[in-house]
Amino acid sequence: MVHCPECKTALETIDDIEFVEMDARTGFIRSSKRFYTTTCAECSATIGSGVAGAKPNGGAA
Ligand SMILES: [Zn+2]
Repeated sequence: MVHCPECKTALETIDDIEFVEMDARTGFIRSSKRFYTTTCAECSATIGSGVAGAKPNGGAA
């Protein structure tokens, strides 16, 4: 189970997490991959980030 590192909210459901997709074409990173971050719905702390549709390398903390 994931807990928010900031407010300790238990992130039990998808509703507790906000996925923010960043379209690579905006210039954030010059790539065709799609990047995303997950943020706490309570305090907006960043929980994690990753790449969607890219090579699966696991490594999720
Ligand atoms: Zn939080």
